Amino acid sequence: MANRPFVVGNWKMNGSRAMLAEARAIDRGAARHPGVRVAVAPPFTLIQAMAENAETMAIGGQDCHAAASGAYTGDVSAPMLADSGASFTILGHSERRAMHGETDAIVRAKAEAALAAGLEAIVCVGETEAQRDAGQAEAVVCAQLDGSLPVGEGVVGRITVAYEPVWAIGTGRVPSVEDIGAIHRAIRARLVQIYGDDGAGVSILYGGSVNASNAVELLAADEVGGALVGGASLQADSFLAIVLAAGGPGEE
Ligand code: PEP
Repeated sequence: MANRPFVVGNWKMNGSRAMLAEARAIDRGAARHPGVRVAVAPPFTLIQAMAENAETMAIGGQDCHAAASGAYTGDVSAPMLADSGASFTILGHSERRAMHGETDAIVRAKAEAALAAGLEAIVCVGETEAQRDAGQAEAVVCAQLDGSLPVGEGVVGRITVAYEPVWAIGTGRVPSVEDIGAIHRAIRARLVQIYGDDGAGVSILYGGSVNASNAVELLAADEVGGALVGGASLQADSFLAIVLAAGGPGEE
């Protein structure tokens, strides 16, 4: 059976307690779209408050440490996320890969830690503009999948892949629907290589400048199972328009 479309908001380093009203509005909106799985990853500081109030949407982290506890000043572990009410975490976002030097091996270790703590993991991959211009997009993304995805018993079903071309994040630029379809097909083929037939059931999200105006078109691309949304997830109206688009014409 096909997975429900999955729409995830990544609030990045945005949001204070004043934003909890916006989160409640997203949650109420999510309840009107049962055909879509809705989730928000706020900063660590808001996870508990949002998780305590959310009735429909899932709440998650944007990162976790690979260790469960220890002398890692400033870091947060996967069990701590779970303890705060998170049910998933985003890992390997390009901002973390670029600004925090996260390698594929680090991302995989974090994903293993997330799964061990009972969280789902959304593992991000995506090429830079230079890599795309050099015709390397598919090779880069497949190598990231090989290096970042955890394998083994019970992994499939708790892993989601987010394809986010680095040059499309926060820029207002998006790949063509054909290009999105082509790379998502390549990701699907790689997932089947990695996980066998079960790889066919892993959701693949598109992320990068998704908004209320382009969501219908982008979400209709081949093998796109939902969206990872940054800027447009900060307001309930724009985020819920994307949720509506993900649900298709039958939703409302
Ligand atoms: C993101 O940060 O994951 C993202 C896709 O951001 P935006 O939607 O703002 O491009």
